[in-house]
Amino acid sequence: MKYPKEVRTYCPKCRKHTTQKAKLVSKGKARAMAIGNRKHERSLMGHGGKRAGEKTVKKQGKRQKIILECPICKKKQERIIGTRTKKKLEFNA
Ligand SMILES: [Zn+2]
Repeated sequence: MKYPKEVRTYCPKCRKHTTQKAKLVSKGKARAMAIGNRKHERSLMGHGGKRAGEKTVKKQGKRQKIILECPICKKKQERIIGTRTKKKLEFNA
């Protein structure tokens, strides 16, 4: 999927349209010692019925997230492109 490098869109801080730079963001590495992860690990131990985090059905495509940065106030905002896209997001040259 293709997307322009710069988009003229609304900036909530400036409260007007500005030409903002788009950047692709990806999920960072999960912290192994985070409380939620430790809780989840514990729930997977032992015997149990249906457990969260063990998925049988795989979703088709990814939800691509980009960050738009306003050149005036430097505020960044997130945006999700489309719904679920099968192809990797590319920026137009
Ligand atoms: Zn702004």
